[in-house]
Amino acid sequence: MKLMLPDQSLSSIYQALLGLDIPSSISDSLALIEVPYVTFDNREEKGQLVIHQELAEEVTALFEELYNQCFPINKMVPLVEYGWDDVASMADNNTSAFNYRKIIATDLLSNHALGRAIDINPLQNPYYALNGEVYPANAIHDPSVPGTLHRDSAAVFLFKEKGWTWLGDRDTYKDYQHFEKL
Ligand SMILES: [Zn+2]
Repeated sequence: MKLMLPDQSLSSIYQALLGLDIPSSISDSLALIEVPYVTFDNREEKGQLVIHQELAEEVTALFEELYNQCFPINKMVPLVEYGWDDVASMADNNTSAFNYRKIIATDLLSNHALGRAIDINPLQNPYYALNGEVYPANAIHDPSVPGTLHRDSAAVFLFKEKGWTWLGDRDTYKDYQHFEKL
């Protein structure tokens, strides 16, 4: 499924959820937010995220702080632009939140499906799955590269301070791009 959308910002949460058949308890709980970010080549951009309403204000403030710290972000558009294909979004180094999907290689609904998880710069912050796969393919986690999340990065402290869990410091697997708050 490839949705044809104009190459511009989405105007409403309804537009951001096009093509999905999901429980209204979920769609009614989501918000579309717009946040500023700095790109890797130092341009100022506006990005959009679909996130649980309860987290909308906090997530806006968190990304405003990343913007103030000049933490670079490659791109930020909702998953509808990728026809809900997470692998395509990661390959495009896209930062995103809501996606109605299961955890890769499992039957468990991801916290992304509740709008309670965010993936930042997948190319700098790959997901090293238990099955040995790396997403996106060929990505390398190098803490010296800007836009990378690591144990000592200000961005990780910022999210943790607000009660978010970062999956980059798990012992079993590493999902460096992923923050979640339930
Ligand atoms: Zn994630």
